[in-house]
Amino acid sequence: MRFAAALSAILMPGAMLAAAAVAQPVPAPTPTLGPQLILLGTGGGPLLRVARAQSASAIVLPEGILLVDAGEGSVERMTEAGFGPDRIKAILITHLHTDHVAALWSLLLHRWVMRAQGQLEIVGPPGTRAMVDALARAGGPIVKASRALGANAPAIASMVTVTECGADPEQRVTLPVFPSLKIAFARNSHLDADQVLDVERPLSLAYRIDAPGWSALFTGDTGPSPAVEALGRGVRLMVAEVVDVDAAMDIVERSMHVKRDDLPGLRTRMATGHLDAQALGKMATTIAPRLLVVSHISPGVTQPSDESDNRLSTQIARWFGGGILVARDLTTIDLQSGRLAR
Ligand SMILES: [Zn+2]
Repeated sequence: MRFAAALSAILMPGAMLAAAAVAQPVPAPTPTLGPQLILLGTGGGPLLRVARAQSASAIVLPEGILLVDAGEGSVERMTEAGFGPDRIKAILITHLHTDHVAALWSLLLHRWVMRAQGQLEIVGPPGTRAMVDALARAGGPIVKASRALGANAPAIASMVTVTECGADPEQRVTLPVFPSLKIAFARNSHLDADQVLDVERPLSLAYRIDAPGWSALFTGDTGPSPAVEALGRGVRLMVAEVVDVDAAMDIVERSMHVKRDDLPGLRTRMATGHLDAQALGKMATTIAPRLLVVSHISPGVTQPSDESDNRLSTQIARWFGGGILVARDLTTIDLQSGRLAR
C-alpha cells in the first residue's frame, strides 16, 4: 500500500494519534516485514526514567539495523524488541550529550562479546572520534582478560569506524553497509546558545534519510531552525523532540545537585535550543511531513498514559494540522506504509 493511502486510512488531516490511544481507529498490523522504525528510547534527558529510555531510534533493514542516537536504556529496549547489538551496523549520532550517547559503551562491549561481523560505522559531529577511541581504550583491560584465558579476542577499536561530519556542510556521508540509503545532515540550533569559552563550539546535527519507498527526518535536539526545515521539507516521516521548559527546569531545581549559577543561562538554552509544542508544531507545518512522530519527550510524566499522550498531541495540533504520533518506547512504524506495526 502506498504511504499516502495508508496514512489517510489512519490519520485524517488535523487528527491526533497517540501511540497508546489508537483505539479509534486502530491500524491493522502490517502483514509483511518491510523497513521498520522502532522507537527504542523516547525520553529526553536529563534524568533517567523507567517508562522512557533515553533517545534512540532503530531503523530495521534487511542489511541490518541503523541506529539514530544511543541513549541510556536503548540496549535493553533492543533486547525487548528481539534483536541483539550484533545486528547494529551503523549509528548516526546527533550530538554528544549524555541522553544520546550513554549506551555507546554498552553497544561496543556487547558487539565485541558477540564478535559481531563487520565494522560498526559511527557517524557523528566533531568529538565523536575522540569519544569512541576513549571508549575502545577503556575496554582494553576486558580484552586483555579475555586473551589471558586464551581467547582470540580482537581489539574493540578494530571493530568500529568513525566518520565525523558537520563542520563542512558540503560533506557527503555514506554508509557502505546500507548502499540504498541517502544520508543528508544539517546543523541544527540546539547548541547555538551555548556560551563559547575556551573550547570550540560543539555541533548538533539533524539527519535525513531517503530510501526507495520511504524517507525520514530526525531533527535531533534543536530549537527553531531554518536549516532543519530546509533539510526536511517534503519528508514523509519526521521524528522530532519536544520539551516542556518549565517542567524541565523544575526537575533541574528539585532533583539535580546543581545550583542555578552552576549552569548559567540554562533556561535560555532550554527555551531556544529545544522545541516546545508550539515551536514543534510550527516547524512541522513548514516541513509538512505525512506523519510527525514525537519522541525525546522531556521531561514528560513519570508514567505515560493515553491522557498524557493526547494532551501533548492536542498542544502540538494547535499549530500543526497533520498526523501526530506521540511515541512510546518500542512503538514500531512500517516505514513504507506509514502504519503502526506495534
Ligand atoms: Zn537530548
